[in-house]
Amino acid sequence: MPRKKAPAKKQPKKVLAKKAPAKKKAVKKVVPKNVAPKKEKKKTKGPNYATLRGMKDILPKEGVSWQHMYHTAEDIANAYGFSYIETPILEQAMLFTRSIGKGTDVVDKEMYVFEDKDGSRVCLRPEVTASVARSYINHGMQTFPQPVKVWYWGQMFRHDRPQAGRYRQFHQFGCETLGVQSPVVDAELIAVAYNTLRDLGIETTVRINSIGTVEDRENYIVELVGYLRSKRSYLSDESKKRINKNPLRVLDSKHEQDQAVMEEAPQILDWLSDKSRGFFMNVLEYLDEAGIPYVLTPTLVRGLDYYTDTVFELYAEDDEGSQSALGGGGRYNGLIEQLGGEETPAAGFSLGIERIAMVLKKQREELEKQENYKPEKPGGIFFAQLGEQACKRSLYLIEELRRKDLRVYHNLAKSSLKAQLETANKLGVSHTLILGQKEVQDETILVRNMESGIQEVVDQKKIANTVQKLLSK
Ligand code: AMP
Repeated sequence: MPRKKAPAKKQPKKVLAKKAPAKKKAVKKVVPKNVAPKKEKKKTKGPNYATLRGMKDILPKEGVSWQHMYHTAEDIANAYGFSYIETPILEQAMLFTRSIGKGTDVVDKEMYVFEDKDGSRVCLRPEVTASVARSYINHGMQTFPQPVKVWYWGQMFRHDRPQAGRYRQFHQFGCETLGVQSPVVDAELIAVAYNTLRDLGIETTVRINSIGTVEDRENYIVELVGYLRSKRSYLSDESKKRINKNPLRVLDSKHEQDQAVMEEAPQILDWLSDKSRGFFMNVLEYLDEAGIPYVLTPTLVRGLDYYTDTVFELYAEDDEGSQSALGGGGRYNGLIEQLGGEETPAAGFSLGIERIAMVLKKQREELEKQENYKPEKPGGIFFAQLGEQACKRSLYLIEELRRKDLRVYHNLAKSSLKAQLETANKLGVSHTLILGQKEVQDETILVRNMESGIQEVVDQKKIANTVQKLLSK
Protein backbone atom coordinates (compact mmCIF):
# COMPACT_ATOMS: atom_id res chain seq x y z
CA MET A 1 0.00 0.00 0.00
CA PRO A 2 1.44 3.29 -1.03
CA ARG A 3 2.24 5.42 1.84
CA LYS A 4 0.43 8.68 2.05
CA LYS A 5 2.58 11.62 1.51
CA ALA A 6 3.14 13.44 4.70
CA PRO A 7 1.53 16.87 4.48
CA ALA A 8 3.98 19.67 4.12
CA LYS A 9 4.68 21.37 7.42
CA LYS A 10 2.84 24.66 7.68
CA GLN A 11 5.08 27.57 8.18
CA PRO A 12 4.03 29.57 11.23
CA LYS A 13 2.55 32.90 10.22
CA LYS A 14 4.58 35.84 11.11
CA VAL A 15 2.79 37.68 13.86
CA LEU A 16 3.46 41.32 14.06
CA ALA A 17 4.24 42.28 17.62
CA LYS A 18 1.52 44.57 18.95
CA LYS A 19 2.61 47.83 20.22
CA ALA A 20 2.56 47.82 23.98
CA PRO A 21 -0.04 50.32 25.23
CA ALA A 22 1.44 53.42 26.61
CA LYS A 23 1.77 53.26 30.36
CA LYS A 24 -0.83 55.33 32.14
CA LYS A 25 0.56 57.88 34.42
CA ALA A 26 0.00 56.85 38.07
CA VAL A 27 -2.47 59.27 39.60
CA LYS A 28 -2.23 59.64 43.34
CA LYS A 29 -5.62 59.35 44.95
CA VAL A 30 -6.30 62.19 47.27
CA VAL A 31 -8.14 61.02 50.35
CA PRO A 32 -9.91 63.90 51.98
CA LYS A 33 -9.01 64.42 55.59
CA ASN A 34 -11.34 63.07 58.32
CA VAL A 35 -12.90 60.55 55.93
CA ALA A 36 -12.17 56.94 56.75
CA PRO A 37 -10.99 55.00 53.73
CA LYS A 38 -13.60 52.61 52.32
CA LYS A 39 -13.14 49.10 53.65
CA GLU A 40 -12.90 46.49 50.98
CA LYS A 41 -15.70 43.95 51.22
CA LYS A 42 -14.40 40.60 52.40
CA LYS A 43 -14.98 37.97 49.82
CA THR A 44 -17.07 35.12 51.25
CA LYS A 45 -16.51 31.63 49.94
CA GLY A 46 -20.11 31.18 48.88
CA PRO A 47 -23.66 32.17 49.64
CA ASN A 48 -24.76 32.06 53.23
CA TYR A 49 -27.62 29.58 53.49
CA ALA A 50 -29.27 30.15 56.82
CA THR A 51 -31.89 27.71 58.03
CA LEU A 52 -35.43 28.96 57.47
CA ARG A 53 -37.09 30.94 60.25
CA GLY A 54 -38.48 28.66 62.92
CA MET A 55 -36.45 25.67 61.74
CA LYS A 56 -33.25 24.37 63.24
CA ASP A 57 -30.54 21.78 62.93
CA ILE A 58 -30.24 19.17 65.62
CA LEU A 59 -26.51 19.16 66.14
CA PRO A 60 -24.22 16.25 66.99
CA LYS A 61 -23.78 17.56 70.56
CA GLU A 62 -27.56 17.12 71.03
CA GLY A 63 -27.49 13.70 69.39
CA VAL A 64 -27.12 11.63 72.55
CA SER A 65 -30.08 13.38 74.15
CA TRP A 66 -32.26 13.01 71.03
CA GLN A 67 -31.39 9.34 70.67
CA HIS A 68 -32.18 8.84 74.34
CA MET A 69 -35.59 10.50 73.93
CA TYR A 70 -36.34 8.40 70.85
CA HIS A 71 -35.34 5.11 72.47
CA THR A 72 -37.28 5.90 75.64
CA ALA A 73 -40.39 6.58 73.55
CA GLU A 74 -39.80 3.48 71.44
CA ASP A 75 -39.31 1.24 74.51
CA ILE A 76 -42.42 2.44 76.26
CA ALA A 77 -44.62 2.31 73.14
CA ASN A 78 -43.47 -1.25 72.43
CA ALA A 79 -43.99 -2.26 76.06
CA TYR A 80 -47.61 -1.09 75.89
CA GLY A 81 -48.17 -2.99 72.64
CA PHE A 82 -48.16 -0.13 70.10
CA SER A 83 -46.82 -0.89 66.59
CA TYR A 84 -44.75 1.64 64.67
CA ILE A 85 -46.43 3.57 61.87
CA GLU A 86 -45.00 6.15 59.49
CA THR A 87 -47.21 8.22 57.22
CA PRO A 88 -46.05 10.69 54.54
CA ILE A 89 -45.04 14.19 55.55
CA LEU A 90 -46.90 15.59 52.54
CA GLU A 91 -50.66 15.01 52.45
CA GLN A 92 -53.72 16.46 50.74
CA ALA A 93 -54.49 19.76 52.41
CA MET A 94 -58.17 18.77 52.67
CA LEU A 95 -57.29 15.95 55.07
CA PHE A 96 -56.38 18.49 57.74
CA THR A 97 -58.81 21.27 56.90
CA ARG A 98 -61.70 18.80 57.22
CA SER A 99 -60.51 17.02 60.34
CA ILE A 100 -58.90 19.76 62.41
CA GLY A 101 -61.55 22.20 61.21
CA LYS A 102 -61.77 25.74 59.93
CA GLY A 103 -61.68 28.43 62.60
CA THR A 104 -58.68 26.78 64.31
CA ASP A 105 -55.28 28.46 64.30
CA VAL A 106 -53.66 25.39 62.80
CA VAL A 107 -55.90 25.42 59.72
CA ASP A 108 -56.53 29.15 59.35
CA LYS A 109 -53.03 30.43 59.93
CA GLU A 110 -50.39 27.77 60.34
CA MET A 111 -50.59 25.18 57.59
CA TYR A 112 -47.87 25.04 54.96
CA VAL A 113 -50.20 24.68 51.97
CA PHE A 114 -49.08 24.87 48.38
CA GLU A 115 -50.04 23.80 44.92
CA ASP A 116 -48.32 20.66 43.69
CA LYS A 117 -47.14 20.29 40.09
CA ASP A 118 -50.44 18.66 39.12
CA GLY A 119 -52.39 21.58 40.54
CA SER A 120 -53.61 19.74 43.67
CA ARG A 121 -53.50 21.47 47.04
CA VAL A 122 -51.08 19.69 49.35
CA CYS A 123 -49.64 20.52 52.74
CA LEU A 124 -46.83 19.61 55.09
CA ARG A 125 -48.54 17.78 57.93
CA PRO A 126 -49.23 19.91 61.00
CA GLU A 127 -49.95 16.75 63.06
CA VAL A 128 -50.31 12.99 62.56
CA THR A 129 -53.69 11.97 64.04
CA ALA A 130 -55.58 12.77 60.82
CA SER A 131 -52.96 10.89 58.78
CA VAL A 132 -53.30 7.83 61.04
CA ALA A 133 -57.10 7.99 60.65
CA ARG A 134 -56.67 8.20 56.87
CA SER A 135 -54.27 5.25 56.91
CA TYR A 136 -56.71 3.22 59.07
CA ILE A 137 -59.43 3.75 56.44
CA ASN A 138 -57.18 3.29 53.38
CA HIS A 139 -55.74 -0.02 54.61
CA GLY A 140 -58.96 -1.55 55.90
CA MET A 141 -57.66 -1.62 59.47
CA GLN A 142 -61.22 -1.93 60.79
CA THR A 143 -60.95 -5.60 59.79
CA PHE A 144 -57.83 -6.07 61.95
CA PRO A 145 -58.18 -7.26 65.56
CA GLN A 146 -59.31 -4.19 67.51
CA PRO A 147 -58.02 -2.00 68.95
CA VAL A 148 -55.35 -1.05 66.45
CA LYS A 149 -52.56 0.57 68.47
CA VAL A 150 -49.89 2.56 66.66
CA TRP A 151 -47.06 4.91 67.62
CA TYR A 152 -45.15 7.43 65.54
CA TRP A 153 -42.23 9.86 65.71
CA GLY A 154 -41.55 12.57 63.18
CA GLN A 155 -41.53 16.14 61.96
CA MET A 156 -44.57 18.40 61.95
CA PHE A 157 -44.89 21.83 60.32
CA ARG A 158 -46.82 24.84 61.55
CA HIS A 159 -46.21 28.33 60.21
CA ASP A 160 -46.52 29.97 63.60
CA ARG A 161 -44.64 32.94 65.08
CA PRO A 162 -41.41 31.34 66.33
CA GLN A 163 -40.49 31.78 69.99
CA ALA A 164 -39.01 29.68 72.79
CA GLY A 165 -40.47 26.19 72.45
CA ARG A 166 -42.39 27.08 69.32
CA TYR A 167 -40.92 26.22 65.95
CA ARG A 168 -42.16 25.93 62.41
CA GLN A 169 -40.70 22.47 62.12
CA PHE A 170 -40.83 20.36 65.25
CA HIS A 171 -41.02 16.71 66.24
CA GLN A 172 -43.75 14.77 67.93
CA PHE A 173 -43.90 11.31 69.46
CA GLY A 174 -47.42 10.01 69.70
CA CYS A 175 -49.66 6.99 70.19
CA GLU A 176 -53.14 6.31 68.80
CA THR A 177 -55.58 3.57 69.82
CA LEU A 178 -58.32 3.03 67.26
CA GLY A 179 -61.43 0.87 67.26
CA VAL A 180 -62.44 0.67 70.93
CA GLN A 181 -64.64 2.84 73.13
CA SER A 182 -63.44 2.18 76.65
CA PRO A 183 -62.25 4.49 79.43
CA VAL A 184 -59.26 2.22 80.02
CA VAL A 185 -57.98 3.17 76.53
CA ASP A 186 -57.95 6.86 77.47
CA ALA A 187 -56.30 6.09 80.80
CA GLU A 188 -53.68 3.87 79.14
CA LEU A 189 -52.79 6.60 76.64
CA ILE A 190 -52.43 9.14 79.44
CA ALA A 191 -50.28 6.62 81.35
CA VAL A 192 -48.00 6.10 78.32
CA ALA A 193 -47.55 9.87 77.85
CA TYR A 194 -47.01 10.43 81.57
CA ASN A 195 -44.60 7.51 81.99
CA THR A 196 -42.58 8.45 78.92
CA LEU A 197 -41.91 11.83 80.49
CA ARG A 198 -41.26 10.24 83.88
CA ASP A 199 -38.75 7.79 82.36
CA LEU A 200 -37.00 10.81 80.87
CA GLY A 201 -36.80 12.33 84.34
CA ILE A 202 -39.63 14.87 83.98
CA GLU A 203 -42.39 14.87 86.59
CA THR A 204 -45.61 16.17 85.07
CA THR A 205 -49.17 16.98 85.99
CA VAL A 206 -51.96 15.96 83.71
CA ARG A 207 -54.65 18.59 83.14
CA ILE A 208 -57.83 16.84 82.10
CA ASN A 209 -61.37 17.65 81.03
CA SER A 210 -64.24 16.18 79.06
CA ILE A 211 -65.90 18.05 76.24
CA GLY A 212 -68.62 15.40 75.79
CA THR A 213 -70.27 14.37 72.57
CA VAL A 214 -70.85 16.69 69.61
CA GLU A 215 -74.44 17.28 70.83
CA ASP A 216 -73.28 18.04 74.39
CA ARG A 217 -70.89 20.56 72.97
CA GLU A 218 -73.46 22.18 70.71
CA ASN A 219 -75.79 22.73 73.67
CA TYR A 220 -72.95 24.07 75.77
CA ILE A 221 -71.73 26.41 73.02
CA VAL A 222 -75.16 28.11 72.89
CA GLU A 223 -74.86 28.80 76.63
CA LEU A 224 -71.21 29.87 76.35
CA VAL A 225 -71.80 32.27 73.44
CA GLY A 226 -74.62 33.93 75.42
CA TYR A 227 -72.27 34.40 78.36
CA LEU A 228 -69.38 35.69 76.20
CA ARG A 229 -71.64 38.20 74.45
CA SER A 230 -72.73 39.54 77.84
CA LYS A 231 -69.03 40.04 78.78
CA ARG A 232 -67.83 41.14 75.34
CA SER A 233 -66.42 44.49 76.46
CA TYR A 234 -64.08 42.77 78.96
CA LEU A 235 -62.58 40.39 76.41
CA SER A 236 -59.38 40.75 74.38
CA ASP A 237 -59.77 41.64 70.70
CA GLU A 238 -58.71 38.13 69.73
CA SER A 239 -61.41 36.57 71.91
CA LYS A 240 -64.05 39.03 70.68
CA LYS A 241 -63.39 37.71 67.17
CA ARG A 242 -63.62 34.15 68.40
CA ILE A 243 -67.07 34.46 69.97
CA ASN A 244 -68.69 33.57 66.67
CA LYS A 245 -65.83 31.80 64.95
CA ASN A 246 -64.63 29.34 67.59
CA PRO A 247 -66.05 30.24 71.03
CA LEU A 248 -64.47 27.23 72.77
CA ARG A 249 -61.03 28.70 72.12
CA VAL A 250 -61.89 31.67 74.33
CA LEU A 251 -61.87 29.22 77.25
CA ASP A 252 -58.16 28.51 77.03
CA SER A 253 -57.14 32.00 75.94
CA LYS A 254 -53.72 33.07 77.21
CA HIS A 255 -54.83 36.70 77.76
CA GLU A 256 -55.17 37.62 81.43
CA GLN A 257 -58.29 39.71 80.86
CA ASP A 258 -60.00 36.71 79.20
CA GLN A 259 -58.97 34.40 82.00
CA ALA A 260 -60.72 36.63 84.53
CA VAL A 261 -63.93 36.46 82.47
CA MET A 262 -63.64 32.69 82.11
CA GLU A 263 -63.57 32.16 85.86
CA GLU A 264 -67.31 32.83 85.95
CA ALA A 265 -68.11 31.11 82.65
CA PRO A 266 -70.49 28.14 82.43
CA GLN A 267 -68.52 24.89 82.64
CA ILE A 268 -68.79 22.22 80.01
CA LEU A 269 -68.80 19.47 82.65
CA ASP A 270 -72.28 20.64 83.67
CA TRP A 271 -73.51 20.07 80.12
CA LEU A 272 -72.30 16.52 79.66
CA SER A 273 -74.82 13.78 78.92
CA ASP A 274 -75.03 11.01 81.53
CA LYS A 275 -73.14 8.70 79.20
CA SER A 276 -70.25 11.11 78.69
CA ARG A 277 -70.12 12.01 82.38
CA GLY A 278 -70.06 8.32 83.38
CA PHE A 279 -67.31 7.62 80.84
CA PHE A 280 -65.22 10.52 82.13
CA MET A 281 -65.62 9.45 85.77
CA ASN A 282 -64.36 6.00 84.78
CA VAL A 283 -61.28 7.49 83.09
CA LEU A 284 -60.51 9.40 86.30
CA GLU A 285 -60.95 6.23 88.39
CA TYR A 286 -58.41 4.41 86.23
CA LEU A 287 -55.98 7.29 86.62
CA ASP A 288 -56.45 7.21 90.41
CA GLU A 289 -55.73 3.49 90.41
CA ALA A 290 -52.62 4.00 88.28
CA GLY A 291 -51.39 6.72 90.62
CA ILE A 292 -51.26 9.35 87.90
CA PRO A 293 -51.73 12.87 89.28
CA TYR A 294 -54.23 15.02 87.41
CA VAL A 295 -55.96 18.36 87.77
CA LEU A 296 -59.53 18.77 86.56
CA THR A 297 -59.35 21.75 84.23
CA PRO A 298 -62.79 22.90 83.00
CA THR A 299 -61.26 25.46 80.62
CA LEU A 300 -59.25 22.86 78.72
CA VAL A 301 -60.84 22.21 75.31
CA ARG A 302 -57.84 21.60 72.98
CA GLY A 303 -59.40 23.61 70.17
CA LEU A 304 -59.38 21.05 67.37
CA ASP A 305 -62.74 20.08 65.89
CA TYR A 306 -62.26 16.34 66.04
CA TYR A 307 -62.07 15.91 69.81
CA THR A 308 -64.92 14.35 71.78
CA ASP A 309 -65.12 13.37 75.47
CA THR A 310 -61.71 13.15 77.15
CA VAL A 311 -59.11 15.85 76.46
CA PHE A 312 -55.82 16.25 78.33
CA GLU A 313 -52.48 18.05 78.37
CA LEU A 314 -49.25 17.42 80.26
CA TYR A 315 -47.22 20.13 81.98
CA ALA A 316 -43.85 19.90 83.72
CA GLU A 317 -44.42 20.07 87.46
CA ASP A 318 -41.75 22.68 88.18
CA ASP A 319 -43.31 24.85 85.48
CA GLU A 320 -46.24 26.13 87.56
CA GLY A 321 -48.74 28.06 85.52
CA SER A 322 -46.78 27.38 82.37
CA GLN A 323 -48.47 28.26 79.12
CA SER A 324 -46.71 25.65 77.09
CA ALA A 325 -47.72 22.03 77.33
CA LEU A 326 -45.25 19.24 76.75
CA GLY A 327 -48.00 17.24 75.12
CA GLY A 328 -51.68 16.65 74.81
CA GLY A 329 -54.36 14.48 73.33
CA GLY A 330 -57.83 13.15 73.64
CA ARG A 331 -60.62 11.05 72.22
CA TYR A 332 -61.79 11.61 68.66
CA ASN A 333 -64.75 9.32 68.09
CA GLY A 334 -66.08 11.11 65.02
CA LEU A 335 -62.90 11.58 63.02
CA ILE A 336 -62.74 8.37 61.00
CA GLU A 337 -66.38 8.62 59.98
CA GLN A 338 -65.84 12.26 59.08
CA LEU A 339 -63.02 11.20 56.76
CA GLY A 340 -65.24 8.68 55.00
CA GLY A 341 -64.68 5.56 57.12
CA GLU A 342 -67.01 3.59 59.39
CA GLU A 343 -67.99 4.95 62.77
CA THR A 344 -64.87 4.19 64.84
CA PRO A 345 -64.07 5.27 68.37
CA ALA A 346 -60.43 6.32 68.83
CA ALA A 347 -58.08 8.28 71.07
CA GLY A 348 -54.47 9.41 71.09
CA PHE A 349 -51.80 11.80 72.31
CA SER A 350 -48.65 13.49 71.10
CA LEU A 351 -45.64 14.88 72.94
CA GLY A 352 -43.54 17.77 71.63
CA ILE A 353 -39.91 16.65 71.51
CA GLU A 354 -38.32 20.13 71.27
CA ARG A 355 -40.18 21.20 74.42
CA ILE A 356 -39.06 18.05 76.24
CA ALA A 357 -35.48 18.70 75.09
CA MET A 358 -35.75 22.21 76.54
CA VAL A 359 -36.87 20.94 79.95
CA LEU A 360 -34.10 18.34 80.00
CA LYS A 361 -31.51 20.99 79.07
CA LYS A 362 -32.75 23.26 81.83
CA GLN A 363 -32.54 20.38 84.32
CA ARG A 364 -28.96 19.60 83.24
CA GLU A 365 -27.92 23.25 83.53
CA GLU A 366 -29.38 23.49 87.02
CA LEU A 367 -27.55 20.32 88.04
CA GLU A 368 -24.26 21.67 86.69
CA LYS A 369 -24.69 24.89 88.71
CA GLN A 370 -24.70 22.94 91.98
CA GLU A 371 -21.50 23.34 94.03
CA ASN A 372 -20.80 19.65 94.52
CA TYR A 373 -21.57 18.81 90.92
CA LYS A 374 -19.25 16.28 89.34
CA PRO A 375 -19.76 15.46 85.68
CA GLU A 376 -20.67 11.84 85.23
CA LYS A 377 -17.92 9.93 83.51
CA PRO A 378 -19.44 7.75 80.85
CA GLY A 379 -16.81 5.01 81.38
CA GLY A 380 -16.13 2.64 78.53
CA ILE A 381 -12.98 1.71 76.66
CA PHE A 382 -10.91 3.46 74.00
CA PHE A 383 -9.13 1.67 71.16
CA ALA A 384 -5.92 3.39 70.07
CA GLN A 385 -3.64 2.37 67.19
CA LEU A 386 -0.19 3.34 66.08
CA GLY A 387 1.20 2.87 62.58
CA GLU A 388 -0.28 1.82 59.26
CA GLN A 389 -0.32 -1.92 59.92
CA ALA A 390 -2.01 -1.39 63.27
CA CYS A 391 -4.57 0.96 61.79
CA LYS A 392 -5.51 -1.68 59.19
CA ARG A 393 -5.81 -4.40 61.82
CA SER A 394 -7.88 -2.11 64.07
CA LEU A 395 -10.87 -2.02 61.76
CA TYR A 396 -11.01 -5.82 61.88
CA LEU A 397 -10.67 -6.03 65.68
CA ILE A 398 -13.22 -3.24 66.34
CA GLU A 399 -15.75 -5.02 64.12
CA GLU A 400 -15.05 -8.31 65.91
CA LEU A 401 -15.84 -6.61 69.22
CA ARG A 402 -18.98 -4.92 67.81
CA ARG A 403 -20.33 -8.29 66.64
CA LYS A 404 -20.14 -9.39 70.27
CA ASP A 405 -22.00 -6.21 71.23
CA LEU A 406 -18.85 -4.74 72.79
CA ARG A 407 -18.42 -1.12 71.76
CA VAL A 408 -15.18 0.79 71.97
CA TYR A 409 -14.49 4.45 71.29
CA HIS A 410 -11.90 5.04 68.61
CA ASN A 411 -10.54 7.60 66.20
CA LEU A 412 -8.77 5.77 63.40
CA ALA A 413 -8.19 9.03 61.54
CA LYS A 414 -5.69 10.12 64.19
CA SER A 415 -2.20 8.63 63.93
CA SER A 416 -0.50 10.11 67.00
CA LEU A 417 -0.81 8.00 70.12
CA LYS A 418 -0.58 11.12 72.30
CA ALA A 419 -3.61 12.68 70.60
CA GLN A 420 -5.59 9.46 70.94
CA LEU A 421 -4.77 9.12 74.64
CA GLU A 422 -5.85 12.73 75.13
CA THR A 423 -9.22 11.93 73.58
CA ALA A 424 -9.47 8.83 75.77
CA ASN A 425 -8.80 10.98 78.83
CA LYS A 426 -11.41 13.54 77.79
CA LEU A 427 -13.97 10.78 77.35
CA GLY A 428 -13.12 9.55 80.85
CA VAL A 429 -12.64 5.92 79.85
CA SER A 430 -11.18 3.53 82.41
CA HIS A 431 -8.93 1.63 79.96
CA THR A 432 -7.40 2.06 76.52
CA LEU A 433 -6.47 -0.79 74.22
CA ILE A 434 -3.27 0.05 72.33
CA LEU A 435 -2.30 -1.69 69.12
CA GLY A 436 1.15 -0.88 67.70
CA GLN A 437 3.41 -2.44 65.05
CA LYS A 438 4.89 -4.88 67.56
CA GLU A 439 1.50 -5.98 68.84
CA VAL A 440 0.30 -6.61 65.27
CA GLN A 441 3.23 -8.94 64.74
CA ASP A 442 2.90 -10.67 68.15
CA GLU A 443 -0.90 -10.86 67.81
CA THR A 444 -1.22 -9.16 71.18
CA ILE A 445 -2.66 -5.88 72.40
CA LEU A 446 -1.80 -3.57 75.31
CA VAL A 447 -4.46 -2.82 77.90
CA ARG A 448 -3.65 0.45 79.66
CA ASN A 449 -5.28 1.42 82.93
CA MET A 450 -5.89 5.13 82.42
CA GLU A 451 -5.71 5.98 86.10
CA SER A 452 -2.55 4.09 87.13
CA GLY A 453 -0.91 4.05 83.69
CA ILE A 454 -0.10 0.36 84.16
CA GLN A 455 -0.13 -1.59 80.90
CA GLU A 456 -0.77 -5.28 80.44
CA VAL A 457 -0.11 -7.40 77.36
CA VAL A 458 -3.11 -9.50 76.26
CA ASP A 459 -3.39 -12.08 73.51
CA GLN A 460 -5.52 -10.71 70.65
CA LYS A 461 -7.69 -13.83 70.84
CA LYS A 462 -8.68 -12.80 74.34
CA ILE A 463 -9.61 -9.19 73.56
CA ALA A 464 -13.36 -9.81 73.67
CA ASN A 465 -13.14 -11.52 77.08
CA THR A 466 -10.94 -8.76 78.47
CA VAL A 467 -13.17 -5.97 77.17
CA GLN A 468 -16.29 -7.71 78.48
CA LYS A 469 -14.75 -7.99 81.95
CA LEU A 470 -13.61 -4.36 81.97
CA LEU A 471 -16.97 -3.04 80.77
CA SER A 472 -18.90 -4.99 83.40
CA LYS A 473 -16.72 -3.64 86.27
P1 AMP B 1 -50.91 19.94 69.98
O1 AMP B 1 -51.60 18.70 69.58
O2 AMP B 1 -51.03 21.04 69.01
O3 AMP B 1 -51.29 20.38 71.38
O4 AMP B 1 -49.38 19.58 70.04
C1 AMP B 1 -48.90 18.61 70.93
C2 AMP B 1 -47.56 19.04 71.45
O5 AMP B 1 -46.67 19.31 70.37
C3 AMP B 1 -47.60 20.33 72.25
O6 AMP B 1 -47.95 20.10 73.57
C4 AMP B 1 -46.18 20.81 72.12
O7 AMP B 1 -45.34 20.17 73.04
C5 AMP B 1 -45.80 20.36 70.73
N1 AMP B 1 -45.94 21.48 69.78
C6 AMP B 1 -47.06 21.94 69.19
N2 AMP B 1 -46.80 22.99 68.39
C7 AMP B 1 -45.46 23.18 68.46
C8 AMP B 1 -44.56 24.10 67.85
N3 AMP B 1 -44.97 25.02 66.98
N4 AMP B 1 -43.24 24.00 68.17
C9 AMP B 1 -42.79 23.09 69.03
N5 AMP B 1 -43.59 22.19 69.63
C10 AMP B 1 -44.91 22.23 69.35
